[in-house]
Amino acid sequence: MTTSCNNLIAGRWVKAQGGETFDSINPARFGEVVAVAPRSKRTDVDAAVAAARKALPAWRLTPAPRRGEILFRAGEILLQQKQAIARLMTREMGKVLEEARGDVQEAIDMAYYMAGEGRRLSGETVPAELPDKDCKSVRVPVGVFAVITPWNFPVAIPGWKILAALVCGNTVVFKPSSYTPLCAQRFVEALQAAGLPPGVLNLIHGTGAEAGDPLVNHPGADGVSFTGSWQVGHEVIQACADRHKAFTTEMGGKNAIIVLDDADIDLAVDGILWGAFGTAGQRCTATSRVVVQEGIHDMLVARIKEAAAALKIGNGLDPRNQVGPLINEEALNKVLSYIRIGTEEGARLVVGGGRYMEGDCRLGYFVEPTVFVDVTPQMRIAREEIFGPGLSVIRVRDLEEAIQVVNDSDYGLSSAIYTRNVNASARAERDLDTGIVYINASTIGAEIQLPFGGTKHTGFGPREAGGRGGALDLYSKWKVIYRDFSGKLQRAQIDKSPVAAETIGE
Ligand code: NAD
Repeated sequence: MTTSCNNLIAGRWVKAQGGETFDSINPARFGEVVAVAPRSKRTDVDAAVAAARKALPAWRLTPAPRRGEILFRAGEILLQQKQAIARLMTREMGKVLEEARGDVQEAIDMAYYMAGEGRRLSGETVPAELPDKDCKSVRVPVGVFAVITPWNFPVAIPGWKILAALVCGNTVVFKPSSYTPLCAQRFVEALQAAGLPPGVLNLIHGTGAEAGDPLVNHPGADGVSFTGSWQVGHEVIQACADRHKAFTTEMGGKNAIIVLDDADIDLAVDGILWGAFGTAGQRCTATSRVVVQEGIHDMLVARIKEAAAALKIGNGLDPRNQVGPLINEEALNKVLSYIRIGTEEGARLVVGGGRYMEGDCRLGYFVEPTVFVDVTPQMRIAREEIFGPGLSVIRVRDLEEAIQVVNDSDYGLSSAIYTRNVNASARAERDLDTGIVYINASTIGAEIQLPFGGTKHTGFGPREAGGRGGALDLYSKWKVIYRDFSGKLQRAQIDKSPVAAETIGE
């Protein structure tokens, strides 16, 4: 069944002004059109930004607890619709049903968390240095936020961004990936049904060039929250810096798991398989490198090879399948080209290495779980983001070399270590230069109550999710208030009290 999507502008569902559309295709069966969505252009973006600006004054002054209550209701609606949204997510972008349910759950978690923030959003009250005076800091909204998201977490990532932006009192123009318009539509519908006033959240479907770029550069957008590739994120950073916009950019990863000789090998194999081949490797936190100490190397490789070969590949709607398709033909060709590059660079392919064409899978973009060994840290397959089911195994002597190899990357999102040695885990925790470090767990599994993001080319700007130190610092600005009720001129730093003057001998 094909569903029609629309833009949401000022509370009305509308087509693109030019009347053009694009198709969203099931990557597991590319003959199936899941949705038809408006192909928006600059004029549609202008209308959405104007609607968001118009709605801003009233939303900004809506008490934050009331804003939070709407988010709570949205969480309840998403919970009721979790199964249905997960099914269409699997059809629209391919991840297996169990993971799709997890994706929706992350947005539900965020809705409840941010609903609670409506009653906190706290700043600081500190003592004043002068009598009859008080001082405090308060959070104020940034204004109109442009939210631009990728396809691989089509409900969770909009959830991190939009729910936090709204509770802080911003209005939003949301441009989701053109590969997942229907997931975006369902998420926005839930917020509308929860009672958001018209214009507070606007949705614009379309491509990055035609709708995303005009939105990022729009003078009416005060802030930009972007998650996607490094190539696009880098352009967003430059555009925002030039225009002095608030922004954050969460981009690619080249995440690694360290396995030391003393690790629980069963646990490590489970974590590696889940990290490398879940969502067919298309997660920003996917495990792309395994850095293994030499004593356990051969045994670990044998276990990974056996387990990877046993994974069930196929349409994610069948609960027996564990690895779904890649998102599109471009991704398929990119992953296959990295497999060629790995072989040419001298890495040894131990499992996988080709397109998977069994049965109905010939109708989709499936690739076999693929593992390379004898990989050196300089090889391209060890350095560049592949974003598919490809894993590189690198052998090291000890923990020190392992940490050095993990850190020798342009990216710094997530890393993990498997060890039973408490001192080794403490050193790894201290020295790994990534935004997230897992001990005896895979590179996947962030929870929404802590900030999410990476170092180096992965992340630039404040972190998403979490509260303080995370999304609240992105979606609000600080304002500091000094109130003097002495009825006379008091001069900070100059009018010192007699006690203080005596003490320092003035
Ligand atoms: P992408 O960069 O191709 O697209 C991301 C979004 O940007 C889409 O909505 C797209 O339409 C839009 N866009 C494209 N060109 C644009 C432009 N010139 N101006 C404005 N917007 C534009 O990324 P993708 O393929 O959708 O997602 C995969 C990438 O996202 C991977 O690199 C992955 O690591 C990264 N990712 C990062 C995180 C994180 O939190 N670090 C999370 C998920 C995905």
